[in-house]
Amino acid sequence: MDVLKRVPIAEQEPKVRAKNFDEVCLGYTEEEAIEEAKRCLNCKNPRCVAGCPVSINIPAFIHEVTEGNFEKAYEIISESSALPAVCGRVCPQETQCEGVCIRGIKGEPVAIGKLERFVADWARKNGIAPKKAETKNGHKVAIIGAGPSGLTCAGDLAKEGYDVTIFEALHEAGGVLVYGIPEFRLPKDEVVAHEVANVEALGVKIDTDVIIGKTLTIDQLLNEKGFEAVFIGSGAGLPRFMNIPGEQLNGVFSANEFLTRNNLMKAFKDQDTPIFRGKKVVVVGGGNVAMDAARTALRLGAEVHVVYRRSMEELPARREEVHHAEEEGIIFDLLQNPVEVLGDDDGWVRGVKLIKMELGEPDDSGRRRPVEIPGSEYEIDCDTVIMSLGTSPNPLISSTTKGLDVNKRGCIIAKEENGETSKTGVYAGGDAVTGAATVILAMGAGKAAAKGIMDYFAAK
Ligand SMILES: Cc1cc2nc3c(=O)[nH]c(=O)nc-3n(C[C@H](O)[C@H](O)[C@H](O)COP(=O)(O)OP(=O)(O)OC[C@H]3O[C@@H](n4cnc5c(N)ncnc54)[C@H](O)[C@@H]3O)c2cc1C
Repeated sequence: MDVLKRVPIAEQEPKVRAKNFDEVCLGYTEEEAIEEAKRCLNCKNPRCVAGCPVSINIPAFIHEVTEGNFEKAYEIISESSALPAVCGRVCPQETQCEGVCIRGIKGEPVAIGKLERFVADWARKNGIAPKKAETKNGHKVAIIGAGPSGLTCAGDLAKEGYDVTIFEALHEAGGVLVYGIPEFRLPKDEVVAHEVANVEALGVKIDTDVIIGKTLTIDQLLNEKGFEAVFIGSGAGLPRFMNIPGEQLNGVFSANEFLTRNNLMKAFKDQDTPIFRGKKVVVVGGGNVAMDAARTALRLGAEVHVVYRRSMEELPARREEVHHAEEEGIIFDLLQNPVEVLGDDDGWVRGVKLIKMELGEPDDSGRRRPVEIPGSEYEIDCDTVIMSLGTSPNPLISSTTKGLDVNKRGCIIAKEENGETSKTGVYAGGDAVTGAATVILAMGAGKAAAKGIMDYFAAK
């Protein structure tokens, strides 16, 4: 065994998986997991733990894997994370725990994410669930949104005996995990639903189809429904558009709508929700959401072009996602930007007018600024355009809650260390506070807010 290299993990062949929605990565076997775990140096001062926003005791769980004690490994992870099978699949480990792994200095870092996934999958297959609180303390807390931040906050409070209800606008719990991230990266029924059920098994109630700000307001929850504290984990689900001519044409979608139809409503299985199966699809943007939209459109039968205004070096999506997208046949049209969506006489998309770009000086983000090359416009044919340009929080909650401050981007202002907002008893975290970020940062914020809420009750 070459200790500088990771134990390879099985994946579906690119040509096969480009035509189905089954999971791309097939996971480690028990033997492979043990072999990979043995690469961990069990550092005295483990930088990986500091690199994890929910501080999982990584060396301890990996040590249990080396011994074949998978149940104990799961117990250790569950102390810090309510969603290990999710995080093992979608966390950007390369910039977190694995990014600081000592093994990574000379060789490849330990595959911490894949080991976390293995342990969580093993626990699921063997019927192991996290432990429930023995007694209730009688305090009622409302959580808005059943995404990673809300589920984590709810789970941590329930473990300590709080009476927790999550109010979720959609008919299913999971947030972006169910409506955004596609099945081929994160199986819904097998993985997400199971981890949501684990949170419910801690005693958390989930009330779906309740839109806070419409069905009920936060002030009603606090003043009329007996809740003593509220956590807002409502995410950032409002899509941005380019405001270019032609964006109103039939065949232009936000990535959010396109992915929700496919993932949450299962349009790919030909269920009741229709989805537009384009022949040639242009996805605008270069983030993870753009990769998910592109790979979904490909699986629905299209030729797919990702149009991004900078170069591959600046493309913000995870390397693993870009690599998978390239392997599957997604075409990257770099250093170009749409200036107009072109329509036919019936109001449907027939193409896009693009302009070529070059890179100028670095901007505020530190990345080189894309600059249009005058006179370089040209047209390409397509029948679908999917805009994937980022999202921001929906103003519904802030506009219906007295005394809740937001910043100029519409994000709720909350303290990073405990989620406290400008309104007494109201806490917030995740994308609703930071704008679109990551699952694990949202979970970290949910955890910090649970601690903040407990301190609030202790000081009352
Ligand atoms: C397509 C896509 C792919 C992504 N891929 C990755 C990835 O690979 N890795 C990664 O780490 N991150 C990824 N992200 C980002 C990540 O999913 C989010 O950062 C994370 O889900 C944020 O969690 P949250 O709990 O703050 O919000 P969300 O997951 O958005 O959950 C918010 C929940 O609140 C509900 N809600 C909203 N308003 C109300 C209301 N008024 N009343 C009641 N309920 C309400 C929503 O319906 C939703 O269920 C991706 C995002 C998208 C869109």
